[in-house]
Amino acid sequence: MKELEVIVEPLLEWFYKNKRELPWRSDPTPYHVWISEIMLQQTRVEAVKEYYKRFLNKLPDVSSLASVSDEELMKLWEGLGYYNRARNLKKAAGVIVKEYEGVIPGTYEELLTLPGIGSYTAGAISSIAYKKKVPAVDGNVLRVVMRVLGCFKNIDDAKTKKWLEEELIKILPEDVSSFNQALMELGALVCVPNGEPHCMNCPLQKYCKTFEHSLFQEIPVRKEKKKRRIEEKTVFIFYSKGKVALLKRKETGLLAGLYEFPNYDKKMTQKEVLKYLKEKKIEALKIEELPFAKHIFSHVEWHMQGYKIILDDFFETEEYIWSDLKDLNEKYAIPSAFITYLELVKKEIE
Ligand code: SF4
Repeated sequence: MKELEVIVEPLLEWFYKNKRELPWRSDPTPYHVWISEIMLQQTRVEAVKEYYKRFLNKLPDVSSLASVSDEELMKLWEGLGYYNRARNLKKAAGVIVKEYEGVIPGTYEELLTLPGIGSYTAGAISSIAYKKKVPAVDGNVLRVVMRVLGCFKNIDDAKTKKWLEEELIKILPEDVSSFNQALMELGALVCVPNGEPHCMNCPLQKYCKTFEHSLFQEIPVRKEKKKRRIEEKTVFIFYSKGKVALLKRKETGLLAGLYEFPNYDKKMTQKEVLKYLKEKKIEALKIEELPFAKHIFSHVEWHMQGYKIILDDFFETEEYIWSDLKDLNEKYAIPSAFITYLELVKKEIE
């Protein structure tokens, strides 16, 4: 595709001058590229930096990742969301230890067979860490190239991605690592996903059909998103003797295996809470309404009303875990859906 060949040189020149210094760029080993790319899926670069450092500190290589406990892994991932990403990292590390003697394979095809590694991540590891001539097409790359070409293909269609991967293979330069990263970087910094792209600072402006015809609102074309389901909840923050009550979530489904504050699938008034506690034979010394909180998942929104409930003593049931501040900080992984209440709790029991 001649149209795309022209972007290679200006894009590389721009990248050499403008690339961000990122922790995983200073030493792009296969392990570093893999961990960072998985963390960066659905998460902003700024948010990932600290997680990445902490993760590598605790789990510096494939064998430590393969043998980490699920509890510790979830704690390291706490707040990053999409927890299956972490579970798949551990599963894949197990396969690498067992079948590849602990060495991350370098070919795109082998990488694709590992849990949690799709075509984009396989392309990123293979090209950035092993310098293999394969493309790495994510949402940023799709948006940039569709805009340059003025192409109206739907970028949520798997066929579009496949098509673009095949087209990019034809123009990949020697420095494939920089080229792939340059496309991603341009999508993150210049041809941005939200709001107007910064075309005046774009090295591809001269070749860009979207700029020429002012089409940035029309391109990229995406599938219409389904409306999110709203789930109402009441969240109980039970305190007793400087500890707070937690429950472990089921091992399957949303936020599987993580810890949460006890909650009920309906929004309750204070009066209803009192009645509910009475039915459960829970004696509260004091009940106080907490702020409303909302958390957005990809397909569902939680609308939560919290209540602080002071108890005289712990419950006599086994499923409740009474945690102090140290264990909240170091042991139990609580998803960011509960961040509003978690921050209040930490202040309360510190
Ligand atoms: Fe995106 Fe504008 Fe650059 Fe075209 S010129 S690739 S629309 S930033």
